[in-house]
Amino acid sequence: MIDESTLRVELTAALRWAAREGMQEAVANHFSVAVSDDGRRFLLSPNGRFWSRTTASDLILLDVDDPDVFARPDAPDPTAWYLHSHLHQTVPHARAVLHTHMPYATALCCLAEYEFHMLDQNACRFYNRIAYDRNFGGMAFKAESERVADLMRGGKSVCFMGNHGVLVVGRTVAEAFDELCYLELACRTQVLALSTGRPLAVLDDEIAEKTCDEWLEYPNIAVQHLNEIRAVLDEEEPGYRV
Ligand SMILES: [Zn+2]
Repeated sequence: MIDESTLRVELTAALRWAAREGMQEAVANHFSVAVSDDGRRFLLSPNGRFWSRTTASDLILLDVDDPDVFARPDAPDPTAWYLHSHLHQTVPHARAVLHTHMPYATALCCLAEYEFHMLDQNACRFYNRIAYDRNFGGMAFKAESERVADLMRGGKSVCFMGNHGVLVVGRTVAEAFDELCYLELACRTQVLALSTGRPLAVLDDEIAEKTCDEWLEYPNIAVQHLNEIRAVLDEEEPGYRV
C-alpha cells in the first residue's frame, strides 16, 4: 500500500497534467484514489478548484461511512461523492477513479449505439475492456453511480458514460492515468478517421486481443509516464507537491 502523502502527490500530478492536456472542464469532474485496503477511505480532488492549481494538501480525505460528509467545511462535490464513493466501496480493482468529459472520448460517447473500434495499436489496448452505459438520466447522483459500478465490477477498466463522459479505473494512479491519456489519444484517432467518411480498416478480434495482451504485459510504461510528468512538474510548478 502506497502511503497517503505519496498518493496525494501522485494524484495531484495527474490532475495538473490532465489540465495541461485540455481535460479540465471549469471546476467540474474529479479524480480519486483509495487510501485504505477496503477502499472505504479515499482522497478526492476538492470542490470548486481548478485542477491546474490544486495542491497535494488540497485533496480531501473522505470516509464512505461518514454520515456528515456534507456538513464539512470542505464538503465534496455531491455528484463526485456519489460516483467515487460508490466505486471505491464496491469495485475492488477501482483503487484510482478518474472521471472526465475529455473531448474526443466524450464525442464518441455521444454516438448512438457506438462501440469503440479496434482501429490502431492504441485502440487495441482497450480490447474488451470498455463498458457502455447507455442510460443517461441526468447528473451523476445515485442511479448513475450504481449503474456504472455494476458495469465495472466485471473487471472493465473504462466506462463510456453515454451522453456524458468517461470513467477510467486502475489499481494505481499511474496505471489509471496512463490509461486515461491513451484512451483520449485512441479516441482522437478514431474521431479523425470517422471524420474522413472513408471505410474504416477495423482490425480483427484475434489481432486486437493479441495487441491488448502485449500492451498489458509491457513493463513499467505507466510508472515511467507518471515519473516523467512529476519530473516536469517538479521543475516547472513545484508548488503542486505542497
Ligand atoms: Zn461528469
